[in-house]
Amino acid sequence: MSRYIGSVCVLCRREGSKLYLKGNRCYTPKCAIEKRAYAPGQHGPTGGMRRKASDYATQLREKQKARRIYGVMERQFRRYFADATKTTGVTGVALLQALESRLDNVVYRLGFAVSRRQARQLVMHGHFLVNGKKMTVPSVLLKAGDAVTVTEDARKSTYFQSLGKELARRSITEWLSLDAQNLAGSVMNLPSRQQIDTPLKEQLIVEYYSR
Ligand code: SF4
Repeated sequence: MSRYIGSVCVLCRREGSKLYLKGNRCYTPKCAIEKRAYAPGQHGPTGGMRRKASDYATQLREKQKARRIYGVMERQFRRYFADATKTTGVTGVALLQALESRLDNVVYRLGFAVSRRQARQLVMHGHFLVNGKKMTVPSVLLKAGDAVTVTEDARKSTYFQSLGKELARRSITEWLSLDAQNLAGSVMNLPSRQQIDTPLKEQLIVEYYSR
């Protein structure tokens, strides 16, 4: 299955909530869901009679929402779930921790990109080192103690030079640490459920895969 390359705003409208896929625009009145808060394909806000969703439909939508937020393909998502079931912790939380520990997500959480989608591109273009080695795989899972730094070459770019000043003013999530001046960050520990602010009901996803 190929990666979705259409308008990401359609995905938010499909899920009926803001998934913050487009970076800064998501926080402005230009956000498509602020203007058209109804599913694509319906004939306007009053079109398309909505029936009460079944349990299955609700679980499916939550799983799709998670996939879309983190930009993960179905097969890989299923693999994260299978791995999460093998951990000793709560399956839903282990699944979210895996998604959060992806390199593209960490790059986004550190503030090096305005969206996970942009983070993925920056990683694939070879702008980051993980523990001193160039890493171009956005899905690689990081663990406590791993360091992420912007490469020497990328530091010279206008994008990263202007970003450095802005990063110093930002606060980041507690489970990561950031050295804004040196465009470097690290994973201090995997996040607890309370430290993950993604609006997901992971239990519904567990129920979806446990049918
Ligand atoms: Fe979703 Fe952002 Fe588009 Fe709004 S602007 S619909 S939050 S991707």
